[in-house]
Amino acid sequence: MEVYLDHAAARPLDPRVAEVMAPYLAGRFGNPMSQHTHGYTAQADLEAARARVAALVGAAKPEEIVFTSGATEANNLAVLGAGRRLASKGRHVLISAIEHISLSTPVKALAKEGFEVTTLPVGAEGRIDPQTLRDNLRPDTVLVSVMYANGEMGAIQRVAEIGAICRERGILFHTDAVAAAGQVEIDVQRDRIDLLTLSSNDLYGPQGVGALYVRQGVRLQPLLAGGGQERGLRAGTQNLAGIVGFGRAAEIARQELPAEAARLAALRDALLDGVLSRLTHAFVNGPREGRLPNNASIRVKFVEGEALLLGLNRAGIAAASGSACTSVTLEPSHVLLAMGISHVDAQGSVQFTLGRSNDQAQIGHVIEQFPRVVHRLREMSPLNEHNEQEFAEESYETFEHLHHH
Ligand code: PMP
Repeated sequence: MEVYLDHAAARPLDPRVAEVMAPYLAGRFGNPMSQHTHGYTAQADLEAARARVAALVGAAKPEEIVFTSGATEANNLAVLGAGRRLASKGRHVLISAIEHISLSTPVKALAKEGFEVTTLPVGAEGRIDPQTLRDNLRPDTVLVSVMYANGEMGAIQRVAEIGAICRERGILFHTDAVAAAGQVEIDVQRDRIDLLTLSSNDLYGPQGVGALYVRQGVRLQPLLAGGGQERGLRAGTQNLAGIVGFGRAAEIARQELPAEAARLAALRDALLDGVLSRLTHAFVNGPREGRLPNNASIRVKFVEGEALLLGLNRAGIAAASGSACTSVTLEPSHVLLAMGISHVDAQGSVQFTLGRSNDQAQIGHVIEQFPRVVHRLREMSPLNEHNEQEFAEESYETFEHLHHH
């Protein structure tokens, strides 16, 4: 049996999305700026897609959606665009400790440009405390960025509270909603969100397309100079086939969200309960309540995550350890470390992200196979509950060694 449980890394294209993209891949073409029939059609398709993406997040107007090459570009545009635009007003930004690298890296660039950065810690369940956020705001704070939900360990942040605090203080609030979109209902107006990042592939649309929601009236300094597309915020002829697919994917996600989220949450709970009841020394990463319906992240002591993945893969199960985007590095996930999980335990974590193709029979297969793989590895492992402390110190030294040399 093949079970794909790595939807945070990549999702298959929905056939209904492929259907609307097909004409653009086989003959139809046009530049939305052109003043003739080809251009008018392209323009109409582009704007229809914009309206669909706007509807997914509850935007007041379709024009508030700016299409980009993906979530990385949207995060860069939010951070650098807002920071540089507002630099004369203030040079302090505040982010959480669990942001994606495509958010934290442009923030580091702002720091080189003279900004001060406050990184808010998260609690053991992976959430920031809105009161701590409030306490860390300063008169020169111009931007707060806290991700909507974390795809690695599932915690959903108290976005409405954060939005209210920021709006009251006149500070821009950006949220990376890549992992949340399609899983939880998003309403940028209700939650007072000024900037919000989306990715098409996380909604079963094509890869390499994304969007930044930019609330009406919010001014950003663009990253790209050129032809003035996307209200001047993102120059360059649009990726029409990709955007049309993204629009359809957003529409389907919105329609199917309530039923699909409930279905996935039930499968997710069955997976967590099934695995944890068959294993000792295994724990859920992140909260049980206030968790993304499609995320099951499990930390298993006395085994190594990469070995677990290989064992699972041999049983036909595709999962991930740490962040999908940074799992090429030896470093344990910064998200798990920020939650106070030790280096060794973070390295023994496996993350399952569920999606549309998963069913009960597949989850049953995982519940049966996962504990088997763990037991086999534990039999071979030098690690156990008696020498754990000693090993933790040694492993930490190895980590530090790799890090500093
Ligand atoms: N934000 C989050 C939360 C992500 O998980 C990712 C990667 N999937 C990104 C941003 C960047 O997305 P992309 O690589 O598609 O630009």
